[in-house]
Amino acid sequence: MLVVVLVVVLVDVVLVVVVAGAVVATVVVDEVASTAEQALTAKDIVIRRRCERRDRTEFMSGATLGEQEFRFDVVAFDADDTLWHSEDGFHAAEETFCELLRPFVTEGVDLRAVLTATERVNLPTYGYGVKAFGLSMLEAAISVSEGHVSSDVLEKLLSVIRELLLAPVRLLPGVAEVIVDLAKDHRVAIITKGDLVHQTRKVSTSGIDHLFDHVEIVLEKDVSTYERVLRELDVEPHRFCMVGNSVKSDVLPVLALGGHAVHVPYHVLWELERAEQPVDHPRFGQVEAITDVPFWVRGH
Ligand SMILES: [Mg+2]
Repeated sequence: MLVVVLVVVLVDVVLVVVVAGAVVATVVVDEVASTAEQALTAKDIVIRRRCERRDRTEFMSGATLGEQEFRFDVVAFDADDTLWHSEDGFHAAEETFCELLRPFVTEGVDLRAVLTATERVNLPTYGYGVKAFGLSMLEAAISVSEGHVSSDVLEKLLSVIRELLLAPVRLLPGVAEVIVDLAKDHRVAIITKGDLVHQTRKVSTSGIDHLFDHVEIVLEKDVSTYERVLRELDVEPHRFCMVGNSVKSDVLPVLALGGHAVHVPYHVLWELERAEQPVDHPRFGQVEAITDVPFWVRGH
């Protein structure tokens, strides 16, 4: 009798396990299907948009061209401080650096200038981005305090860097609408420089990455980099327009290549990005906000 009861109990346990397994499997399958559906939907949107654009280009060809002809094939956007906030975070981190290091230096030492000088020297070795900034900040903290900075302060600086790396993307006003609008009749791209891991995370969590035809994360924004990217995009320089907040990185090299560039200033500019605006250049434009870009692009 006891044996029979045990067998019944065992059968029940097996059944429960099997049923539970089936439920888990169903949930997993549902999740996979749902993810695949989302991916398919995003892809469908891009394909649909490209088809609509092609139809419109064909419609606009021949006799209907002229005043309405699109000036550019590709409109590319810088990301940091053009599509989303960035430099204000660095600025706040610099403030924290100055506050934390003040007790370790003699009065009158310009801590911000020390930090900027350290960044400038390290730029060829560390490149751009939060991690490069963080290394320079730690180095400056040790050197300016002549090695007396406490581990407590270094720990606080490290947490500032980590917070910057994990901070959610904050889009600038009107960005999504502008990209959707321009994507109706242009290829739209992101060209941004900096740390590959951080920039990739920002692009993929921005909520607008699906709107772009192309994303390029580069080490430096100079003439040779733009030359390579334009070749990849298969676009002539005179049919290319770059939009960004840095005259040095987003404007001057593009103009030198024969392209067009629109400067959209951000309220904070990194010291190492300072450059004179080429105000008289025929292929240069300046607008107050990104929401003014479609008007400029379509023929101001
Ligand atoms: Mg920028």
